[in-house]
Amino acid sequence: MEWTLAYRSYRRTLRAPLRTAHGWWRERTGLLVRLAAMDGAVGFGEVAPLPEFGTETLAEAEAVCRTLTGRVTAGALDSVDPKLGCVRFALAMAREAPGTAAQPPADARRPVTALLPAGAAALGVLPERLAEGFLSFKWKVGVAAVDEELGLLDDILAALPPYARLRLDANGAWARRPAERWLAACAERPVEFVEQPVPPGERDLLFGLARDFPVKLALDEAVTGLAAARAWQAEGWTGVFVIKPALAGPLAEVADWVRATQADVVWSSAVESCVARAAILRTVLAPDLGTRALGFGLGALFGERAWDGPAVGPLLDASWGAGVAAEELWNALS
Ligand code: MG
Repeated sequence: MEWTLAYRSYRRTLRAPLRTAHGWWRERTGLLVRLAAMDGAVGFGEVAPLPEFGTETLAEAEAVCRTLTGRVTAGALDSVDPKLGCVRFALAMAREAPGTAAQPPADARRPVTALLPAGAAALGVLPERLAEGFLSFKWKVGVAAVDEELGLLDDILAALPPYARLRLDANGAWARRPAERWLAACAERPVEFVEQPVPPGERDLLFGLARDFPVKLALDEAVTGLAAARAWQAEGWTGVFVIKPALAGPLAEVADWVRATQADVVWSSAVESCVARAAILRTVLAPDLGTRALGFGLGALFGERAWDGPAVGPLLDASWGAGVAAEELWNALS
């Protein structure tokens, strides 16, 4: 099979800067990829790298797309370096001719986790999210001193109704001692899981903490690509895997891995546009791909409906992607 490949780059300012372990993040850059088959069918993909998570850079992604521009065969698309997970995700997405992609059952839906800001600001946002109906929350920790944040944790838990769930994300910020203090505190509190308590390279420490404390641990930065997730699983990781499909490689391969191994996954956003998000949701809402709340509750990232897609409420279902028009975004980039 042959296609004609074209790509266009995009740059969008984030409506509100996101705080990450690497500082403040103010804009999202990426590529839209268009594959036109000989029969006229057109598919779009999105390359949304996060180099601070260990993915390829935008420049590396663009260099590969440049070499594939014009007439391209399946063999050429398949030969992209496995390390370029974002490009491979986008190419696999664009190859799915419209209407042929697997659709989840019409009644498939999954709760969404609302992201709370770090620090005391979480307490200000929480009532609004509860009023919107969110029942799953994620709070960023590892930003301030341990005692200060543990005090805030109790304030947040006290503000949550008993049926709501809270997950914590340290983004690898803790050393062993603060991690142990936190996990001991979480053992007595209703915390769903603690994400990436220590840096991704601290393999032995992560396995040790998972063994020594009852609260569930999740890997995020440690499992950016599918190969890394497979490796942790092979070494015996039985905790949660936070998978950002836009970074992990072809989504069908990731989904096959989850089905085959029953890995405990949280599907999560890599701050991609609604184009990639619609494709991700089409796949991950399948009932055999997990039950945990989706990590897509980031609010309107860009403050532009065309790039954000429909508002994301406390439940996502298969109809969400119907409000996404990839071709219009493509045309707007010309
Ligand atoms: Mg995380």
